[in-house]
Amino acid sequence: MTLVVQKFGGTSVANLDRIRHVAGIVARHVKAGERVCVVVSAMAGHTNQLVEWVTGLDPVHYDRAEYDTVVASGEQVTIGLLAIALQKLGIPARSFLGWQAGIRTDAAHGKAGIVEIDPQPLLSCIEAGVVPVVAGFQGIGPDGRITTLGRGGSDTSAVAVAAALKADRCDIFTDVDGVYTADPRIVPRARKLARITYEEMLELASLGAKVLQTRSVALAMRYGVRLQVLSSFEDVPGTLVVDEDEIMESNVVSGVTFSRDEAKVSVLRVEDRPGVAAAIFGPLAEANINVDMIVQSVSRDGRHANITFTVSRADLPRAVEILERQRERIGFERVDADADVVKVSVVGVGMRSHAGVAHRMFRTLAERGINIQAISTSEIKISVLIAEEYCELAVRALHAAFGLDRTDG
Ligand code: ADP
Ligand code: ASP
Ligand code: MG
Repeated sequence: MTLVVQKFGGTSVANLDRIRHVAGIVARHVKAGERVCVVVSAMAGHTNQLVEWVTGLDPVHYDRAEYDTVVASGEQVTIGLLAIALQKLGIPARSFLGWQAGIRTDAAHGKAGIVEIDPQPLLSCIEAGVVPVVAGFQGIGPDGRITTLGRGGSDTSAVAVAAALKADRCDIFTDVDGVYTADPRIVPRARKLARITYEEMLELASLGAKVLQTRSVALAMRYGVRLQVLSSFEDVPGTLVVDEDEIMESNVVSGVTFSRDEAKVSVLRVEDRPGVAAAIFGPLAEANINVDMIVQSVSRDGRHANITFTVSRADLPRAVEILERQRERIGFERVDADADVVKVSVVGVGMRSHAGVAHRMFRTLAERGINIQAISTSEIKISVLIAEEYCELAVRALHAAFGLDRTDG
């Protein structure tokens, strides 16, 4: 008998009608003879509300463990409601909080990683013919306290549960009917991909496509979980995330994505000598601030340089504060900060064997008068930093330039 993990996101369980609808989907699979384990998110908007309540009391220095206690509660509501809705359809079901489902995490409150899942509680439930409904996004830390996995973390819960149960499939039901060549809300001409490789999906997710949490893709890749993204509203084929050898032919670029969670820091007129970069990035690393793109330009006198880099928006004030504190030691004229930037990326495994992708990307942006402030590349992606006001224009222009636009309609 096949065993599937079905995950339903926030919009799919946003109210009682939708919860009844989701119960109907689960019931159909159970009646078709599949064994099902369900993972759910909180109702759409509920987690945001919970976060606002915590930060309303203290915007910065709140107790991370209590934050988790509060924000994990949204999922407690939906697991109970969905279990009741399933029972009303004659399907035996019961709810599981993260700890009851044996989901053990590290102690990094607010962004915990799953360390281990004891499959026994869920397996016993399934063997007894009862559908487990598991709270996504949460687990239990080493000290027995509730932890959460970072925003969007229910995807990761679902994949981890699928790996632990050795499920045949992990279906992520959401409010779009698959993974598109770009966010369909920004690019109306985006096309649904029938298949995408784990690697491309990993890049797209980490570069801003929030349809799957990045960690969920990394886990699926590591444990060989068959992952599918599909709609909870429409019964149509979704997108399969697969190994590269399962894709017959692909475009050079498979997708275009963007992230608004970027901020640019420029350290102006530092001395051009060994040790300066280390003096800048050392203290940032110690403060756990992730630095992404880095550009260094040498000034005309040949003795000074400007170093520009990006951090996430939330880290910007701290990054500037740390550099100002180190002013004497580093030696610079001033630090500039700019939060009105976005990172736009093109992703595709086809880049490995095709030259000219960077050129086409830069030319397309130049034709629109869009200035590039920083660039970073990997084997299968190119990212550029641009002014935020050009975000949608750039994404649409690149989508068209790489031949991804839908041609019908
Ligand atoms: P859920 O609540 O089900 O977890 P999310 O809001 O987290 O759903 O993720 C689904 C959203 O991801 C879609 O509504 C869509 O706007 C967005 N998205 C961004 N990039 C893409 C993409 N390339 N393909 C599909 N959806 C995308
Ligand atoms: N409810 C959590 C969030 O909004 C987890 C999730 O939806 O995946 O981030
Ligand atoms: Mg999500």
